[in-house]
Parts: sequence; C-alpha cells; structure tokens
Amino acid sequence: MEKSRPGRFEYLKASTLDEALELLSKHSGNAKILAGGQSLVPLLKLRLLDPPKYLIDISKVKDLRYIRKEGSLLEIGALTTHHDLETKESIREYSPSLWDAAYVLGDPLVRNRGTIGGALAHHDPAGDYPAVLVSLGATISIRSNRNKRNVRAGEFFLDYFTTDLASDEMLTGISVHALEKKQGSAYLKMERVVGDFAIVGAAAFVELDHDDSAARVGIALSAVGNRPIVPEKMIKKLTGMKLEESVVREAAEEVRDEITPPADIRASSEYRKDMAVVLARRAVLDAARRANQQQVEHVAQYQTLRAA
Ligand SMILES: Cc1cc2nc3c(=O)[nH]c(=O)nc-3n(C[C@H](O)[C@H](O)[C@H](O)COP(=O)(O)OP(=O)(O)OC[C@H]3O[C@@H](n4cnc5c(N)ncnc54)[C@H](O)[C@@H]3O)c2cc1C
Repeated sequence: MEKSRPGRFEYLKASTLDEALELLSKHSGNAKILAGGQSLVPLLKLRLLDPPKYLIDISKVKDLRYIRKEGSLLEIGALTTHHDLETKESIREYSPSLWDAAYVLGDPLVRNRGTIGGALAHHDPAGDYPAVLVSLGATISIRSNRNKRNVRAGEFFLDYFTTDLASDEMLTGISVHALEKKQGSAYLKMERVVGDFAIVGAAAFVELDHDDSAARVGIALSAVGNRPIVPEKMIKKLTGMKLEESVVREAAEEVRDEITPPADIRASSEYRKDMAVVLARRAVLDAARRANQQQVEHVAQYQTLRAA
C-alpha cells in the first residue's frame, strides 16, 4: 500500500510566472516544478524518484499556455498541452511535424494534461517532441530569477533525462519557424501499441528550391540514442538533390552507420536500426510531399512494419 504512494513533500502553488521563479530560486536544489504531472507523478508514486522537499505546481500559470504566430515564428508556451497542439489549426498549418507528434503522443488522458514544457524538461529520449524540435532548429526559452536565455533545441538535450536546465531555471516556451511555401515537415513513429513510447521515431523538415531540389534538410531520430540523433550523412546526401524515392532510399541507408540504438523491452538494437532507415526515408518523403502542397494525413503511427 505504502509503495503506491509517493514519499512526503511540501506542495507549493504558483499563480504567476514571477511567483514560480521566486519559489524556484528560494528552494533551488530542493524543489521540482509540477506541470501536467504525467511523468513526475508516476515516478513519485512508483518511488522511482525520491521526492524533492518542495513541489511547485505551475499548472495554473495562465501566461504560459499559448500558441501564437508572431511574424515568421510560431510561439508556444510551456504549459500548452499535447491536446492543444493536436487540435489547433495553426499548428497543423505552420508546423505539421509538431502536429503529427502531438497526435501520436500517449493516450487522450496524457494528452489532456501533459504539457510540451514538461515533456521537453523531462527529456525521455523515446519521447516524441525532442526530435521534432531538433529537426526544425527550434529555440527553447528559459527563465530564472537571475537570467533569461534562449537555447537551440540541438544543444538543449544533453543525455537520458538530462537537459541544459539548471535547478533554479524554468522552461517557459519554444519558438519554431512557421513553415512557408515550399517547406514541409513530418514526424513518423513506430510503437508496439497505441499510447506507447516510440520504438523509433523520425522527424524531417525540407525546404525545396524553385526547381524542387532540396535547399535545406533537417532530420532527427527518437529512441535510437541518449538524445535526438541527427543523421548528418543522410542530410548531406539529400541537400541539393531532387527528393525522388530512389534518391531518398539510398540516402537513408546512411542512417545504418550513424546510429547505435539501445536494445530494451521494446526492440533489439538491430530492429531499431532497420526501422530507423525506413522511418527516416518515409518522413523525408512525407515532408517533401507537404512542401509540394500535397495533403499528407497522419500516417505517423505504425504498430508493425517490415524493412521494405
Ligand atoms: C501512459 C503515458 C504514456 C506516455 N506516452 C508518451 C509518448 O508516447 N510520447 C511522449 O513523448 N511522451 C509520453 N508520455 C509523457 C508525456 O509526454 C508527459 O506529458 C510529459 O513527459 C511530461 O509533461 P507534464 O506536463 O506532465 O510534466 P510533469 O510530469 O509535471 O513534469 C515532468 C518533469 O519536467 C519538469 N518540468 C515540467 N515543466 C517544466 C518547466 N516548464 N520547466 C522546467 N521543468 C519542468 C518537472 O519538474 C519534472 O521533472 C507518456 C506519459 C504517460 C503517463
């Protein structure tokens, strides 16, 4: 019985960002933020994590829940839920890979309460958003009582469940470029059952030139390493090329030498490698279709897949 309850902690509630930063600074090293609770609460209940002395609940800080287009940027607040991202038309239009990821993340209960800020700060390398943000070259905004800074997503995720956040810092939001004409993005995920974490995920961004060759390509993979893995050789092979199926297929083979995936209860290392090749190819092709204004619905969820 005792085992299904977390150990003791003091619960503090912040109603504004300033209040949250003040509490975090006052109790730095002894406090943790509580956002949607979808990762933190199970860890505490299962006693996989010792409770901090203080939990600072920020879930009611209204200023951190927003999605807005500011010029060429899409700004998203840390407390924006997965459900907000899945259902907001501007996400579908301006950042389709983020929309794909929100759609395949967990189940409706998790999506209703879980937040993008919590998912990024938690940094499960099998999580869906980190690879998407890295492939898009997103910026992460961080605040504390002593400073305010922005970090590129590629530098934010350091290791399994470890980010660039200091103990008195809070993630306040992210910004991504709102996709324009001739740009497209896609995220594909392979999972054992709906609601599970990824066996492998692949995020792609492409910008096409006037002659339809790839002017810019961004790719990042989930669940194949300790952080989102960028297959540089595949990207290099595709840049400047027309993204025909045979070209992308050949380039995706590079992924095989660029990753050393872990083996765990979900899949062997070899299987992950095979599936990373397949998903990286399909994600690039879907991103290119979207860049060409072709409709690509969510094709992002696979429960079984063969290396073909
Ligand atoms: C059944 C289940 C299935 C799931 N499936 C998936 C999945 O398929 N893909 C996926 O990506 N995720 C999945 N998740 C995790 C889900 O995305 C969580 O919502 C997310 O990881 C945590 O968000 P949260 O708002 O609930 O954060 P919380 O659980 O409240 O916090 C998580 C961690 O982040 C810290 N934190 C939270 N917000 C901030 C902030 N603004 N600044 C600094 N630190 C902060 C907390 O201190 C804590 O350490 C699943 C979770 C469950 C329970």
